[in-house]
Amino acid sequence: MAIRKMDKPNEGIKCIVNTCEYYMSGDHCAAERIQVEPRNAQDSEETDCATFVARDSFS
Ligand code: SF4
Repeated sequence: MAIRKMDKPNEGIKCIVNTCEYYMSGDHCAAERIQVEPRNAQDSEETDCATFVARDSFS
């Protein structure tokens, strides 16, 4: 199910992934909610945002 993209930042999230559809300038995320995986990760390097959607290069 697609996560709604808001017209304002999700104030609880800082994200620098500027190739994501949900990214907003200023290192914000406009996703209504995000999901981070995987279970049983051992350090931050192993984790990632499963909500990421590659940004359309024409938008
Ligand atoms: S959905 Fe994930 S990767 Fe995309 S901007 Fe938000 S936190 Fe970053």
